[in-house]
Amino acid sequence: MAAENATPLTTEVLVVGGGPVGLMLAGELRLGGAEVTVLERRTGPTTESRASTLHARTAELLDGRGLLGRLGDPPREPRGHFGGIPLDLTLPGPCSGQWKVPQGRTEELLDAWARSLGADVRRGHELHTLTAGEDHVEARASGPDGTVVVRAAYAVACDGEDSTVRRLLAPRFPGHDAGRELLRADVAGIDVPDRRFERLPGGLAVAARRPDGVTRVMVHEFGAAARRRTAAPEFAEVAAAWERVTGERIGAGTPLWVNAFGDASRQLARYRHGRVLYAGDAAHRQMPIGGQALNLGLQDAVNLGWKLAATVRGRAPADLLDTYDTERRAVGLRVLGNIGIQAGLLLGGPEADPLRALLGELIPLEEVRVHLAGMISGLDVRYDMGPDGGHPLCGARLPCLRLLVGDRPSTGFRLLRAGGGVLLDLVGDDRIRAQAAPWADRVRYTAARLDGPRPDGLPDGTDAVLLRPDGHVAWAATAAGAARNGPGEALRRWFGEPGEAGA
Ligand SMILES: Cc1cc2nc3c(=O)[nH]c(=O)nc-3n(C[C@H](O)[C@H](O)[C@H](O)COP(=O)(O)OP(=O)(O)OC[C@H]3O[C@@H](n4cnc5c(N)ncnc54)[C@H](O)[C@@H]3O)c2cc1C
Repeated sequence: MAAENATPLTTEVLVVGGGPVGLMLAGELRLGGAEVTVLERRTGPTTESRASTLHARTAELLDGRGLLGRLGDPPREPRGHFGGIPLDLTLPGPCSGQWKVPQGRTEELLDAWARSLGADVRRGHELHTLTAGEDHVEARASGPDGTVVVRAAYAVACDGEDSTVRRLLAPRFPGHDAGRELLRADVAGIDVPDRRFERLPGGLAVAARRPDGVTRVMVHEFGAAARRRTAAPEFAEVAAAWERVTGERIGAGTPLWVNAFGDASRQLARYRHGRVLYAGDAAHRQMPIGGQALNLGLQDAVNLGWKLAATVRGRAPADLLDTYDTERRAVGLRVLGNIGIQAGLLLGGPEADPLRALLGELIPLEEVRVHLAGMISGLDVRYDMGPDGGHPLCGARLPCLRLLVGDRPSTGFRLLRAGGGVLLDLVGDDRIRAQAAPWADRVRYTAARLDGPRPDGLPDGTDAVLLRPDGHVAWAATAAGAARNGPGEALRRWFGEPGEAGA
């Protein structure tokens, strides 16, 4: 019989799944001061060739944690697409465009970061049961040394699209299964022309040759239904579909990775079920079109981490944790919507052509381009900040600001690196400092001035800005406005009553 740890391991938050979303969440929880244990069944980062795109908002968030620079100098690509129609993703700000980073590299980085902050990341541990009670959750996992029992105040399922936690607890997960699919393979030893979402009479074909000579091919035959699969397709199936669609033979190549993915779309009806929360692919299933799936999940983690940490530390306002559900479910719904539209544009047969032609005329119009680029990049996400949200910046992410703090150059993103909230005072007004003082243990007051001209996106007369730890603006005002209606209410709403701090 396998050994079982005699006394359960106790922690404040149990994260199930140490993929990119679970690891990001673990780091965020540690920044907020919560104890966290991650159970991950794999023994190392993914070796599968999965998501390779980090969008601008994710890059900003990584910069806000001091992680972007650690990625080195990955290739950056302003060219994106909407349903295969070219879309220039250039927007104001230093992070715009797509950052090409293999998912395994992102996971390595986040693993090292979460551990450096003190997260207990246990690889080789597979969760089998999870029960949620009134005041705690309890999990059982099999690990290298037998069964491990973990007891925690909260659990977060970050265990991917086939989430074990979702299967065990069966929350409502409405949506639809895949009707159509794309077959995909990374193949060495073939020589086919590069194709960027080429629609041929029989189907869609994509081919991209990497610098190492390996070509990624993707193919869909118009009208073909998704198959029920329990394993990856054989390469012969991909090669046959490729030949029917393009007329080219690739069967003599060496397949390095073969995979099929469908246009299933599902989203949990609620991301929070008492003491169990869901994030990333465990919370929403979508076709990975335009590289949005991973980015959506990482942004879930950054929204949830500080709220859950404040909750377990006993200093969160009563409804703070529920705002994770309302804020991120709305964002997820919108992303799943645009992915569904793109799936129709890409995989639809000739009936999709008129809509494609119309969008092809609209997308070059600057307003349309900026709108779509904002949506795909995640830069246009805006949360409801309630009654204090009158200023045009409220709810949006803080645009990139170059700052001087004293004589030291900094940026708005850099101010977030220590975790916690930030009250940025651009005019050095003692009244603003005084108003923030009671929250000094949770919100860092920083007086700074703009280094250079006022950037795009910062409205004239913005003298003070309260930032949540996820970089979204909770309150902003002119100095005169701040004197009349200061940040006090917003500080209470997002950071709790002053003087409640546990530490
Ligand atoms: C085959 C494939 C190809 C993809 N290709 C692309 C792409 O080209 N572009 C794109 O943008 N996105 C792509 N995606 C999607 C992208 O990889 C995901 O959106 C992203 O990985 C989501 O991160 P996550 O942390 O939520 O889930 P995952 O990365 O799936 O991580 C979940 C983690 O939980 C662990 N786990 C699961 N069950 C248990 C358990 N019971 N106990 C302990 N640990 C458990 C898993 O081992 C895994 O490490 C692809 C996904 C797949 C599956």
